[in-house]
Amino acid sequence: MNFLHYFIDIVGTCNLRCPSCPVGNYQPTDFINNPRPKGFMDFSLFKEILDKIQRENSRHENVIIAIYNWGEPLLHPEYPQFIEAIQAKGFYAEVSSNLNLFDTDDSKKVQHRTNIKDVVMAAPNKLIVSLSGYDAEVYSQTHKRGSSQLVVSNLFKLRYYMEKLKKQFIVELSYHLYKHNVGKDIERIISLTNDLGFRFSSDFTFLMPLEKFLKYLDGEQLSQEEQALISLMLIKPEEQVKLAEAYKHLKCPLREWTTINFDGSTALCCAVYDYEYNIANNFIDISQEELEQRKETHPYCIRCMKKGLHVVASSAARAELTQLTNVRLQSIGSRFRRDNSHSRLSY
Ligand code: SF4
Ligand code: SF4
Repeated sequence: MNFLHYFIDIVGTCNLRCPSCPVGNYQPTDFINNPRPKGFMDFSLFKEILDKIQRENSRHENVIIAIYNWGEPLLHPEYPQFIEAIQAKGFYAEVSSNLNLFDTDDSKKVQHRTNIKDVVMAAPNKLIVSLSGYDAEVYSQTHKRGSSQLVVSNLFKLRYYMEKLKKQFIVELSYHLYKHNVGKDIERIISLTNDLGFRFSSDFTFLMPLEKFLKYLDGEQLSQEEQALISLMLIKPEEQVKLAEAYKHLKCPLREWTTINFDGSTALCCAVYDYEYNIANNFIDISQEELEQRKETHPYCIRCMKKGLHVVASSAARAELTQLTNVRLQSIGSRFRRDNSHSRLSY
């Protein structure tokens, strides 16, 4: 089935600082000019964006609106309204959260409204929960500032409220694979997923954003934390690129998606972080056709494609990535084997 896929960051920051993600690994000196702004998307802007998407969808294709990219959507005080607005258009509402959320019943603290009950009431079509361990010490290495105990307790609450309120939607636990978390940790998470009737998926770890990946390949010095992250990766960035080499000639799958920042500006793709790689200041003011043209001719794409980065995470290269991942898992004594059918991007 064909989908039009939009990533819309309704929150332009996150409460965690994962070393594999620019929210965690970007330093002020990494930006070409100005640091990336932070903030919450206005609901009125979001509604305008949805209207434009609907207007431009002349072929009436299915539309997926994922309200995240580099941010934690459940920090937005009005996120239930955003989900409601997506579904009112007949679009598919997807949320991805770290679920490191404390409940608050204090209505005055609306800026921290993160009740699990509200998440269930909002009932997105799909809620992805990203995590990287069960044990607190294992998890916090790669979900820095986060608590696995908090995530696990929220998963139980989620199921509790789904039963109580009779709400059904897909909950998918997306497990990030590293060398340190594929023993007992992954087994406990799979067992927990089954107990709670949720869906399990596993994901490769990439050094993100694209700018960091390129810097690394160009031999630029990375921070100690980034080097520590790379030492935990099952497949190193240079190996990922080598595997993707055979698919370099293919077109970039990320160009088929549209990525919108919290302030309505539009990024070249979901893998870049610096606002220097924005292709429009306001999604509302530019036609989809013009956006596509700007992507086609962007100079950063030439650099990216030369190295084959555009296909590293593509479905074409994934089979080999999975094969090598499974060889590595075996060599470190893990009983887990990755299955491509359990990819996070399956609908
Ligand atoms: S939880 Fe997600 S958005 Fe937040 S820092 Fe980690 S990877 Fe980035
Ligand atoms: S070619 Fe690279 S930079 Fe360009 S859209 Fe694709 S992934 Fe992004």
